[in-house]
Amino acid sequence: MKKSIKYFAIVLIAGLLQQCSYSQNKSDKMDIKKDNPVYSTSDTSKVELSNEEWRKILPSDIYQIARQKGTERPFTSKYDKFNELGTFYCAACGNPLFKSDAKFESGCGWPSFYEPISKESIIYTPDNTHGMSRIETQCGRCKAHLGHVFEDGPPPTGLRYCINGIVLDFAKAKEAENNYNKKKDPE
Ligand SMILES: [Zn+2]
Repeated sequence: MKKSIKYFAIVLIAGLLQQCSYSQNKSDKMDIKKDNPVYSTSDTSKVELSNEEWRKILPSDIYQIARQKGTERPFTSKYDKFNELGTFYCAACGNPLFKSDAKFESGCGWPSFYEPISKESIIYTPDNTHGMSRIETQCGRCKAHLGHVFEDGPPPTGLRYCINGIVLDFAKAKEAENNYNKKKDPE
């Protein structure tokens, strides 16, 4: 008798937990890789979609910055004070943009880099909005708005790529990842 009550309770709790995780999933953000058919870290072909199409495959915060040229509030990005080793990709299309070696503490409130991975990573466009004369940086593959580049960065380039963390997707360097997994799961 007691056993069946215990069993019942377990089934009940399991059911509740499942429901809980279902409702959490619904309100969770979209998965920027699984829900985005153009996301690829290796495909270099250009991506040209209408904003209507982007809206369907990007979470709203990424859409707001990447396609509407929004700006995240300073000092809010998880990548602002962040010094793990790895690669930063465009969160809209997966294009490799920056290596962690080129990241530096600029104190400006946004993730900052002194150079992109390659010349093709970034498109540069004059931006004269908001009464300023700036150079806008866009993703070289999908033209997502990333941020701006300024000429007050550190050597060797003297440039400061000031990038919205929301449009960055980070992957740890393979080596670091492997070491971490070894420690976590010793064989
Ligand atoms: Zn992109």
